[in-house]
Amino acid sequence: MERTHVKKNDQVLVTAGKDRGARGKVLRVFPGEGKAVVERINMMKRHTRPNPQKGIQGGILEREAPIAVSNLMVVCPSCGEPSRLGRKRLEQGGAVRVCKKCGTNLS
Ligand SMILES: [Zn+2]
Repeated sequence: MERTHVKKNDQVLVTAGKDRGARGKVLRVFPGEGKAVVERINMMKRHTRPNPQKGIQGGILEREAPIAVSNLMVVCPSCGEPSRLGRKRLEQGGAVRVCKKCGTNLS
């Protein structure tokens, strides 16, 4: 599994694409594809046919489409700034992400 700097429930800033400058919460991460789904970001309209037998109403549904994590910056919950993250190894093993601006550890 590839590592991504973005995790579920992170607050992120979109740095490229049509939603550039918008912020949202990460709903899902697809590490293998390097993509993530962010709340209200990269909305795609999906046209649906009505199917009364399945109780599906026709119409246009809006859904978030995955966006490349390279277009996202994590917003630090401590200093509120979109930040580059570092990695710090822990003595007990594993690593945490660290805000390079204020030094706060992120999970
Ligand atoms: Zn910070």
